[in-house]
Amino acid sequence: MNASQPVSRRDFLRKSACAVVGSVLAASGGAEEASELIIDIHQHCNYGGKRDAQYQQIGSARTDEELVAHQRAMKVSKTVMLPAGSPVIRPSTHTGFSNGLEGTCAGDESCMALAGAHPGEFYFGSNEVPDLEEAPATIEKYLKKGAVCIGEQKFGVECDSPQMEALYRLAAEYQAPILMHWQYGTYNYGFDRFYKMLERHPRTNFVGHAQTLWAHIDKDCKDDPKNLYPRGKITPGGWTDRYLSDYPNFFADLSADSGHNALTRDTDFIRPFLVRHQDKLIFGSDCSDKSGHDMTCTGWMTIRSVRELAASNKIERKLLCENARRVYRL
Ligand SMILES: [Zn+2]
Ligand SMILES: [Zn+2]
Repeated sequence: MNASQPVSRRDFLRKSACAVVGSVLAASGGAEEASELIIDIHQHCNYGGKRDAQYQQIGSARTDEELVAHQRAMKVSKTVMLPAGSPVIRPSTHTGFSNGLEGTCAGDESCMALAGAHPGEFYFGSNEVPDLEEAPATIEKYLKKGAVCIGEQKFGVECDSPQMEALYRLAAEYQAPILMHWQYGTYNYGFDRFYKMLERHPRTNFVGHAQTLWAHIDKDCKDDPKNLYPRGKITPGGWTDRYLSDYPNFFADLSADSGHNALTRDTDFIRPFLVRHQDKLIFGSDCSDKSGHDMTCTGWMTIRSVRELAASNKIERKLLCENARRVYRL
């Protein structure tokens, strides 16, 4: 499914749910409650722990109970949990550096278990290191168990490698979007030529995430691809803006510091950007704090920025709820 396809009855009912419940709440309470239905497509189990020089976890990370409390503090009603791949030592994991998604994030079983304990509130993705021989089979196993997406794909591989194309085909087959962490020189190489994959896999929904994706809303960023958190004024015409405009199967995840930086660095550019891509931008948090509110929580700040910058309530609803419902079929 993609943004250009006609709206099915099921999608229509989902869309209505985002808006109707909002107006019921608006009638009974304030503006805060009216905007309460929020879907978060980007969180992790066992997030935020420390690691030693061999990338082994030291001490504790955020617990499942703390994660659930964090999501409820952000007033998120549905959350997609993204697993890490298997911990392996090979070039695609930068000899272990990228295990646990470059941290302590847990794998498929943990995410599925959390979703199982909170039906209707938590969902899970399916993941594996893409150049492991068994990766497609492992990912398909969890898709069959109800995973709603593939990812977070955060590995040192070419974006047009045969191994990644096998995952793109699985994503199309199961109508499950694939979420990719774009970071120049480290994860998913070749953002400049990624349009070839968007063209070759039109039935696959791709959700872009992270530094290089957001840096490239700025055309001038091409002059220094290593600058992962560019600041200041944006020159229109970046690759990300073009991919979002030209390809109905390309979406962008607003999560993390990279997404928040993009929202806030040049509000004159970003206000029309949110209008232009109102059917393509999807809220995610990807933060490892325990509070779920105030300036300690990137997700909370991103929700606040979306509400400040969206040109209408309708667009705000799309970014915080409806686009996720449609693309993830929640
Ligand atoms: Zn993440
Ligand atoms: Zn947070």
